[in-house]
Amino acid sequence: MIDGADYNHAVNVLRLAPGSHLIVFNYEHGEWEARVDTLDRAGATLTVVLLKQLRARAANGARITAVCSLIKKDNWELLLEKLTETGVDTIIPLITKRTVVEVKDTQKKRERWEKIIHSAVKQCGRLTSPSLLDPVKGVEKLQPQGNAANFFVYEKAEGVYLLDEAYALVGGPRDACFMTGPEGGFTDEEADIITGKNFRAVSLGDNILRAETAAIASATVLSQALRRSVWKS
Ligand code: SAM
Repeated sequence: MIDGADYNHAVNVLRLAPGSHLIVFNYEHGEWEARVDTLDRAGATLTVVLLKQLRARAANGARITAVCSLIKKDNWELLLEKLTETGVDTIIPLITKRTVVEVKDTQKKRERWEKIIHSAVKQCGRLTSPSLLDPVKGVEKLQPQGNAANFFVYEKAEGVYLLDEAYALVGGPRDACFMTGPEGGFTDEEADIITGKNFRAVSLGDNILRAETAAIASATVLSQALRRSVWKS
């Protein structure tokens, strides 16, 4: 059954009616060619008959977790959209000493963030959705991900590895987790705590990137490195 925003899109934008063909997917069963069976305008629901599977959901391979400091609204929403497009599997919002956005009305925000992620999933054609976890307050609460290569994306990590080199060194395919800071960066004290937890400090190059650029660049670099390691294995 299709309802909510997807119903609106199907009926009011795409003008689908009983008999129309469409492509549907859910996060469990892959992507299917389907035909509209019934349209209930009063209840705002649509049912479909599945005709043929087009793509199966990929088996769970190596996964990417992004731990990103919350940043101002528009940039945070851009970050969510782009991390979804690049293939991140889990997003953990982080509240640090220099986080400037207020975190209240969490439920309402979460609904909006989930909506942005859902639209990005549909737009980019991926068959899974990233999980958005509850915000974590304080870097001391973070733990490196069990079997993953854990990276601390840090503009002061001069003379150390670039992110893609560091991932290649750990040998893939392997889960990866990266952490990026807020607009004002991490404090020195936070940096010490993070590196003390075995997150390897890595650089994205000589320029200081904006917080959302750093997160999007990290996700892109890691998803490509991970894909390359899968193809080569
Ligand atoms: N502390 C800085 C300042 O205010 O000058 C900049 C912080 S930067 C805008 C936000 C985040 O992006 C940083 O905490 C870091 O995670 C990441 N970042 C930006 N440029 C980077 C680079 N060249 N290498 C690694 N990380 C970078």
